[in-house]
Amino acid sequence: MSNATAIVTGAARGIGAAVAQRLAQDGFAVAAVDLDDSTATVESITRSGGRALAIVADVSDEAQVTEAVARTATELGPPTVLVNNAGVGPRAALVDMTTEQWDTVLGINLRGPFLFTRAVVPYMIDAGWGRIVTMSSISATGDAGRVDYGSAKAGLIGFTKSLALQLGPHGITANAIAPGFIVSDMTRLSARRLGLEFEEFQRQAAESIPVGRVGQPEDIAHTASYLVNHAAGFVSGQVIYVAGGPVD
Ligand code: NAD
Repeated sequence: MSNATAIVTGAARGIGAAVAQRLAQDGFAVAAVDLDDSTATVESITRSGGRALAIVADVSDEAQVTEAVARTATELGPPTVLVNNAGVGPRAALVDMTTEQWDTVLGINLRGPFLFTRAVVPYMIDAGWGRIVTMSSISATGDAGRVDYGSAKAGLIGFTKSLALQLGPHGITANAIAPGFIVSDMTRLSARRLGLEFEEFQRQAAESIPVGRVGQPEDIAHTASYLVNHAAGFVSGQVIYVAGGPVD
């Protein structure tokens, strides 16, 4: 169990909500940050006896990020764990992709983790300890329908490895989780865009996954819990594919 404070972005639903709940079970006080209201996540944590705070903020907005981190420090304590999870993944062919879409996707998926990490790392350096976990994706290896998303998720791997090199001497580890198909609103939306029932979409996806099933948010929460644990201090700069099989 830990008494430290963790920030989880994109914690209103899906993977982020599961990570926030799991870290609260692990004993962290959790700031659940999202563009949407994270009250449901916070209520489920407090019902189970945990400590949590809902903060509405856009991860791509510098002033909102600064404010969210300062509020976390004041209300829950100095944050020493950061899970950069908020993300969006709209689909568009390259030739139809607007510059605005590119900027938005890179802004949320890549600039967001930069802004949050820059704001939280001083607390980690003060503490001489920290854990940074960033949500990449199997799309980092290429995504035919999402050039912008694939670029951002690949960028996060370079970001993570660079953080691990720079911050290791301060007792801070940085790792990326690269999920495969996880049941969430993001994959629900993909099914709708492809004109498939969600059940059918999951069945088709599971056929090409070695363990024979799609992933659940809890699969990712379990991996995040491992990476932020004190005992994982020798694991840094890694990309852990949580995809039911190997990924090239
Ligand atoms: P989701 O759409 O269910 O949840 C994403 C959350 O991020 C939402 O609560 C949303 O409100 C929040 N968010 C979006 N833009 C934001 C912003 N600008 N500021 C703050 N919050 C914002 O998606 P999910 O499946 O839970 O995805 C979580 C992360 O995992 C994302 O980074 C995604 O790219 C990654 N991922 C998901 C899958 C998958 O199959 N679901 C696979 C690989 C990677």
